[in-house]
Amino acid sequence: MIEIICGAERCSLMLLEPTGETLRIRASRGIDPQIVAEAVATVGTGIAGTVAQSGQPLFVADIETDSRFGRRNATQYSNTSLVCVPILVADRVVGVLNVNNKHSGASFDENDLNLMTLLASQAAVAIDNANRYEDMSERATRDGLTGVHSRGYFDDCLERAWRSAQSAGRTFSLLMLDLDHFKSVNDRYGHPAGDAVLREVARHLVIAVRDDDLVARYGGEEFSVILSRAEAAAALQVAERIRTSIEAMQAVHEGQVIQITASVGVATFQEGCLSAAQILNAADQALYQAKSTGRNRVVLAAAETA
Ligand code: GH3
Ligand code: MG
Ligand code: MG
Repeated sequence: MIEIICGAERCSLMLLEPTGETLRIRASRGIDPQIVAEAVATVGTGIAGTVAQSGQPLFVADIETDSRFGRRNATQYSNTSLVCVPILVADRVVGVLNVNNKHSGASFDENDLNLMTLLASQAAVAIDNANRYEDMSERATRDGLTGVHSRGYFDDCLERAWRSAQSAGRTFSLLMLDLDHFKSVNDRYGHPAGDAVLREVARHLVIAVRDDDLVARYGGEEFSVILSRAEAAAALQVAERIRTSIEAMQAVHEGQVIQITASVGVATFQEGCLSAAQILNAADQALYQAKSTGRNRVVLAAAETA
């Protein structure tokens, strides 16, 4: 659209990367794909970097003679003018819009600059909406207190893990973990202290597992973990590592050190497992056994229950 309105041969949309230090091309027209893939602008240097830093549009009448351009760009831009405008969301630069090389060979002018500024404000709205949506959907999958995944997200993932185990033979294991005598932590130290313990337990769980495993708060003081590609022996090892790390954990709340233990039920996907609910039930039964045989222990579900 920009190239039609402004009659530009080349245009690009560059967005600021999460570090806030560099920009990369995210959409373009008329630019070599290799340049698109590799071009990185540093905030504060070059045309795009200068605009990203200042938040002010830049109009370059002749790139050949402008000192802000290195010689290596000369052939790429030929002898023409360029406009670069910032994309601002709530007064913060999120990217820049570049156009150069007018089809007609003429220079860009004030009109082009105004049009570009208008387009940049439209782009800003779209980018802001996309970012908000991403934030919201990310939040919906997370538990507000601990930051690990929510129960709903866990349910979906368990279903998916079961399906892929069924169809592609990709096994997995499930841990159900319940903190021991947690009510007495609340009773003794207060609810905010209990919350701090829950957050600390969640942190230990995330550290104990691999990136492609999933940690969720199943409810209250119960957590669930999906261990992808883990057979029973490996799952037992992870569960035991988690149990000992929680046992050794020293959660500090308002100067008080709180210690806690956890019971864990483990179930592994078996041939003939009919549903995600079945493996969940098996892990629950194992957890119940861990509780009834003394707590602070790991129990593997009997093969026939899984
Ligand atoms: P058991 O060893 O049998 O699991 O004993 P328990 O005390 O852990 O089990 P129970 O189910 O009796 O109590 C669970 C407690 O977890 C009671 C509840 O107040 C507490 N709890 C649940 N959700 C939260 C929360 O978000 N924050 C805090 N602080 N406590 C919570
Ligand atoms: Mg419980
Ligand atoms: Mg409990």
